[in-house]
Amino acid sequence: MDKLTHYPMVIGENLVTTGSEDLIEPATGRPFATVALGNKTDVEQAVLAAKAAQTSWAALSYGERSAALMQLADALEAKSEMLAELESRNAGKPTKLTIGGDIPFAIDNLRYFAAAVRRQEGSAAGEYVGGYTSFTRREPVGIVGAITPWNYPFMMAIWKLGPALAAGNAVVIKPAPNTPITTIELAKIALESGFPAGLINVVTGGAEVGEAICTHPDIRMVSFTGSTRTGQRIAELACPMVKRVTLELGGKAPFVVFADADIEAAARGAIPACYMNSGQDCTAATRIYVQDAVFDQFLTRFSELSRSLRVGDPFDSATDLGPLASQAHRLKVHGMVEEARQQGVKVAIGGSLPAGEGFYYPPTILVDAPQDSNCVQQEIFGPVAVVNRFTEEADAVQLANDTPYGLAGSVWTSNVQCAMRMVAAMDCGTVWVNDHLPIASEQPHGGFKQSGIGKDMSYYALEEYTVVKHVMLELTGEAKKAWHAVVFDG
Ligand code: NAD
Repeated sequence: MDKLTHYPMVIGENLVTTGSEDLIEPATGRPFATVALGNKTDVEQAVLAAKAAQTSWAALSYGERSAALMQLADALEAKSEMLAELESRNAGKPTKLTIGGDIPFAIDNLRYFAAAVRRQEGSAAGEYVGGYTSFTRREPVGIVGAITPWNYPFMMAIWKLGPALAAGNAVVIKPAPNTPITTIELAKIALESGFPAGLINVVTGGAEVGEAICTHPDIRMVSFTGSTRTGQRIAELACPMVKRVTLELGGKAPFVVFADADIEAAARGAIPACYMNSGQDCTAATRIYVQDAVFDQFLTRFSELSRSLRVGDPFDSATDLGPLASQAHRLKVHGMVEEARQQGVKVAIGGSLPAGEGFYYPPTILVDAPQDSNCVQQEIFGPVAVVNRFTEEADAVQLANDTPYGLAGSVWTSNVQCAMRMVAAMDCGTVWVNDHLPIASEQPHGGFKQSGIGKDMSYYALEEYTVVKHVMLELTGEAKKAWHAVVFDG
């Protein structure tokens, strides 16, 4: 057998390997590469490299930082086919999705942050206390720790690195243990293209490395995307050290179809909404609520379209759904479907583990599941949709909001007043009207409730990676008498 390609960590300008472990290809279930396995000492080295690079990076003008990030975006774009292929192999994503979506969209996100930093400003000066002028500055946090999940490895890395670097920070990033390759390649491309060493440090590994990042005293902020459970643990570790934390966590998005909606459009819209990236998407529509009068019509059409999807090799351009990212995850998804079946929930299509190699799972539709069941309340994170019914608008609001999550949701209706009432009533960070899933670099993405704290993308994300400093200038040259008289007499 050919020797497997090895992917080392990137710390400062060095490629580093401490331990090593196999990476499994989701399409075959077999090892296809090895990756360095880092530890606490590697995190310490990465922080030293970040500290050495950050001060001079932060001292650059906004325009200079912007130019360096634009150049990095060009260098990544020049390698985008290679990045897409690696992402497909490592995460099992169809190339249709990586070449056509993830990689170019992430590069656009980076260009957005490179541009956005040039409009960064503090508040204008003003005299809020007589004899003093006040203004504010936005400054980088310093060293940022970033921890990312496996479902969109390259895009999640850029969502952290883009705003953190634009704001003048240096980053120590830990990708998910099973999907580290494109984050490593990103850092290597940065070095090769002349981007300053030490600003992007990649330490690979699992919870041990993640916890070392959360507890390192010189890391002033932890930016995390992943499950709510891990997010809670990260907050627990970071908060005693009073670190800034942004958490982009799980979701269980509702997709609400009113009887006056265009039902064909809703059924078609539910296909990418439920199955893009094999449903391994935090904003995926996982709870479809359909008004009684159109329930059968919607379910029939949605089932028909779901059955026509092609599940298969990520490198086949005809493939709609690739495999799930790991065997452990596939078993979790199937376990939740089985649990629903045993509780008497109808499985309209799918729901069985395919034979053969790879971690494939078919589009699956569960019907009329009790609102308090796990398949309605908890993330399944696979190609599994629950289709339930509602009668009145008030029921739709109550059902849509009835989970611990609040990341995203959509409403389908031809009545603009109903749409606007639902937009206001839905307790989540993004609401789509007559669509579900599209996002834009310029608009914020982030959850309410247990879906998180803070925003990715948009100008709001840039602000997350800065601290605000108040500057107050005494104007008289003789420390203001009236003010000092409060404490001293004369
Ligand atoms: P996960 O929480 O298991 O892991 C995420 C990252 O945290 C990984 O890098 C992992 O190694 C690391 N980690 C695990 N334990 C840790 C610990 N104790 N301390 C520090 N780091 C630790 O999540 P996952 O299974 O990789 O990703 C799927 C989850 O991510 C889903 O819940 C999904 O909804 C969520 N997600 C959310 C968004 C969003 O924008 N809100 C986007 C993508 C994914």
